[in-house]
Amino acid sequence: WSALRCLPEGIEGLESVANVIAVASGKGGVGKSSTTVNLALALASAGARVGILDADIYGPSQSHMLGLDGQRPRVKAEKQMYPLEAYGMAVMSMANLVTDKTPMVWRGPMAAGALQQLLLQTAWPELDYLLIDMPPGTGDIQLSLSQKIPLSGALIVTTPQDIALIDALKGIEMFNKVNVPILGVLENMSSHVCSNCGHKEAIFGEGGGERIARQYGIEVLAQLPIDKQLREDLDSGTPTVVKSPTSPLAMAYSEAGSKL
Ligand code: ADP
Repeated sequence: WSALRCLPEGIEGLESVANVIAVASGKGGVGKSSTTVNLALALASAGARVGILDADIYGPSQSHMLGLDGQRPRVKAEKQMYPLEAYGMAVMSMANLVTDKTPMVWRGPMAAGALQQLLLQTAWPELDYLLIDMPPGTGDIQLSLSQKIPLSGALIVTTPQDIALIDALKGIEMFNKVNVPILGVLENMSSHVCSNCGHKEAIFGEGGGERIARQYGIEVLAQLPIDKQLREDLDSGTPTVVKSPTSPLAMAYSEAGSKL
């Protein structure tokens, strides 16, 4: 496996990284972090070398979903840390540097600066893809990160609900403004199948992801259902792609990954 390198050579701190991909959502709670971790694992299981930077400073959940709670990164040298490791991936999150009781009260520029530092002062191994789990929204932090971090592209996670799509559009516009290519839309919580009677219901509406994809000439990479097992697997620190690699859900993530 070798992903095409999109990052320019010689960016200090990112010499070993071929592609940095932002995973973004306008709205919080649409499943951006869940999608990031499963997609990253799908890429890793296909043979790619993958890292995750959890930049969702106000609700960092990657370390919990990967069973890394309470672990501390080892210091490599002055101002450099080794990332943690989970399921063969390199992982760095602010959650592993602060305690549960440390409040995240940073303002935009401060938070963006700290995240950039976290990105560049981590001793990343050779990586085909470094996925950044972005903070939700399109405020100062997100804009500043998308300008300062050399991104190969961005993925947009949304539910089909109008209110989520409106915010997803803002995300696409933000990346367009700073000339970051949109690699595709991942529609999460597209439908739900009742485990009792098998009835399928589009709880958050239908076709939303396709509508914005058409509007911007981009692709819907996956339509992921609301799934109790998916949620339970994340809560237990063993995401579905690892726990049930042959499940339809795991297949959907790996198909999305193959389109990157
Ligand atoms: P975000 O990063 O957008 O804030 P999360 O990935 O943290 O969203 O997801 C929000 C909540 O919804 C989490 O508790 C997660 O486990 C759950 N969740 C996300 N996607 C799904 C899904 N497809 N089916 C069931 N639960 C999901």
